Amino acid sequence: SPVTTDMKTLIKEVEKFAQKRKTEIESLKVREDYRKEFMGNVSHELKTPLFTVQGYILTLIDGAMNDPAILDKYLNRANKGVERLIYIVKDLDMITKLEVGDLNLNYTNFDIIELVQSVFDLFEMKASKKNIALTFDMNYQDPIIVHADKERIQQVLSNLIVNSIKYGKEDGTTEVSIENLIKNKVIVRVTDNGEGIAQAHIPRLFERFYRVDKSGSRKEGGSGLGLAIVKHIIEAHHERIYVESDYRIGSEFSFTLEKVKKFPVVDVGTKTT
Ligand code: ADP
Repeated sequence: SPVTTDMKTLIKEVEKFAQKRKTEIESLKVREDYRKEFMGNVSHELKTPLFTVQGYILTLIDGAMNDPAILDKYLNRANKGVERLIYIVKDLDMITKLEVGDLNLNYTNFDIIELVQSVFDLFEMKASKKNIALTFDMNYQDPIIVHADKERIQQVLSNLIVNSIKYGKEDGTTEVSIENLIKNKVIVRVTDNGEGIAQAHIPRLFERFYRVDKSGSRKEGGSGLGLAIVKHIIEAHHERIYVESDYRIGSEFSFTLEKVKKFPVVDVGTKTT
């Protein structure tokens, strides 16, 4: 009869609705777990530098500040700790924006070689402390113009180059190379001959807060977010990121970018007819 058919349809509708609610609740639960885990990680990351800074301040209050040499030394160390906190908070801010999808890319055309050079200049001091040479694998005569968010790509290069110095060996090298790929793409490679990464860690490398050697990396003072930020930025560009590494031999991180095929040459000064 029509009544039972209606009842059946109604029951089906109710079941469908219940199922939908269940899925919604489950996805909320996943997000809540994610949030809790994130908050746990954040407080864990902030705790160590905060306690370090507090340690120096307490020692000074306890009387160490009467010695001008110690006062100077401890204030400088406390300041280093605060600098590190600022660095971590900046990375946290960036990863949050990237994960929420709240970061608009500002595409322009720029010379990737020039950008690599400027990042080299930025970290030359840091590299020279370990006597690490920052090099291009060849001489690039002409600019290589890419289409991307320059500031974000600078961050990608910075994070990869800083890592290659941090996990590089004394007297080692960090080499950047840029190669044409088919279809208007270039691949940018950052290669080091440092400590390398054992295969077992590779799949988790780009997860936020993941570190191969917790104590070692912490000494180096990273946020554990560098590679997660790199991956997000490259994926936001719809490009790809790769890693190849051999334990104790070295690592190579590479990513693709869109190349601007032809740059219009406008010569205004020397027009002849
Ligand atoms: P961190 O702040 O710990 O450097 P990252 O996200 O930048 O965080 O890197 C995650 C981990 O990957 C590092 O802790 C380190 O163990 C490993 N790693 C990254 N880059 C390199 C590299 N060039 N050589 C060896 N290990 C690396």
